Amino acid sequence: MSHTQGQVRVRFAPSPTGSPHIGNIRTALFTWLFARRHGGVFILRIEDTDRARYVEGSVQEIMDSLRWLGLDWDEGPYFQSERLPLYREVAEKLVASGHAYRCYCTPERLEELRRQQEAAKQPTGYDRKCRYLSDEERARLDAEGTPYVIRFAMPLEGVTVFQDAIRGELRFENALLDDFVMLKSDGFPTYHLASVTDDHYMGITHVIRGEEWISSTPRHVQMYQALGWEMPVFAHLPMILGTDRKKLSKRHGSVQFVEYIQQGYLPEAMFNFLALLGWSADEDRELYTREELIERFDLSGVLDHPAIFDGQKLLWMNGVYIRRKPIEELTRSCLPYLQEAGLMPSEPSPEQIHYAERVIALEAERMKLLSEVVPLTEYFFRETLEYEPKGVRKWFTQPYVPQMLEMLIARYETLEPFDLQNIEATTRAVAEELGVSAAQVIHPTRVAVSGRTVGPGLFEMIEVMGKERVLKRLRAALEMIRSGQLAMAEG
Ligand code: GLU
Repeated sequence: MSHTQGQVRVRFAPSPTGSPHIGNIRTALFTWLFARRHGGVFILRIEDTDRARYVEGSVQEIMDSLRWLGLDWDEGPYFQSERLPLYREVAEKLVASGHAYRCYCTPERLEELRRQQEAAKQPTGYDRKCRYLSDEERARLDAEGTPYVIRFAMPLEGVTVFQDAIRGELRFENALLDDFVMLKSDGFPTYHLASVTDDHYMGITHVIRGEEWISSTPRHVQMYQALGWEMPVFAHLPMILGTDRKKLSKRHGSVQFVEYIQQGYLPEAMFNFLALLGWSADEDRELYTREELIERFDLSGVLDHPAIFDGQKLLWMNGVYIRRKPIEELTRSCLPYLQEAGLMPSEPSPEQIHYAERVIALEAERMKLLSEVVPLTEYFFRETLEYEPKGVRKWFTQPYVPQMLEMLIARYETLEPFDLQNIEATTRAVAEELGVSAAQVIHPTRVAVSGRTVGPGLFEMIEVMGKERVLKRLRAALEMIRSGQLAMAEG
């Protein structure tokens, strides 16, 4: 039995055991897209019952990451740690119906059992000792207040079968599944109990999660059957591998999602990229808006083989989205990076913002990450320039350059309006008067005003920098040449 009608209700159910990974967030995104595609409800559920693995701050990071991507949740966050009585109730119900039992085995006994199994090269697992205790033995242990866990009594033979929406029918030999713990001795549920209980009471219609949970699913199916609960549709998303087909790790870039945020990926680009990480609309196309993805997304397009994480593609896609962004918005996104580098004040004036917009417009073409705004544009903002030694060596040593700088200074001083057209005409005229090529003026002037040998078009750059800044820089270059400081600048 499974839900096919009624409103779709899905959940993203992370464990707060550390900073979310790319794979976690991909699961959230697919689940969200599925909800939005079907006009359903997207629920955030924090699976925080493993107290030993709880990491402070990870709930915040999970929520920040979802918000950053625009994955808004309709319900929650629910915290499993606040629902303990419910899990116990379900566990006790299964004990009462004979589908579960109290196990009084001590951790020492279990440890010893494992050692023996390993020594005998047998599969490890609980030997079901307490499943077969007599009523008297049980009563005695309870009377003595012996601590216990509650284990599910798995069928000893047969197969558990379920339909996976992505992989089709999956079958598991029951004999290979052990009597797993549902409720721990401290009263906390394990993942299996809490997950099935919540999925039932929260009315979850589709369980969408990573492929690593497939092996848990036959246990869940057995619990649903024992409880007489309607089963959700299960959909296990493919794992994510690096371009070398190995498990995703630091080698392939970051695995922690927040690092991508910090490096300056745009949420729109990340959204698009993640959507294609294990799903395809079966068309020759890579760029989709959020709305287009909502329209197209469905479980039928999810791959049943691993998805390949290609960091170069992500970078390319980010560049595309950066160039698509209106310059005011792009500047707003770049501002924190400029501020952190000390290039912009914490409360910039409208003029300063306007200047940054014009600077960024010149460099956006070359930007693949927001954080690159700093190396790409810092020379526009700094009071004193750092000169590229090779530019200084090549151009500031030319005999005509001091005179050229003097001429430019004199002409620019009186140039009105100081605009692209006038700047270009004036600069070219200086070349002509000196009897050198335009390039022989453009290159040293570029070094003088930017410190660099490459960059955006010189005349555009000069126009954006503005008269005052340009004159100051031309004078500083002239001064440097005259005072014989070249050797120093050459380093
Ligand atoms: N808490 C599990 C996780 O961290 C959830 C698995 C599931 O979705 O059932 O991935």
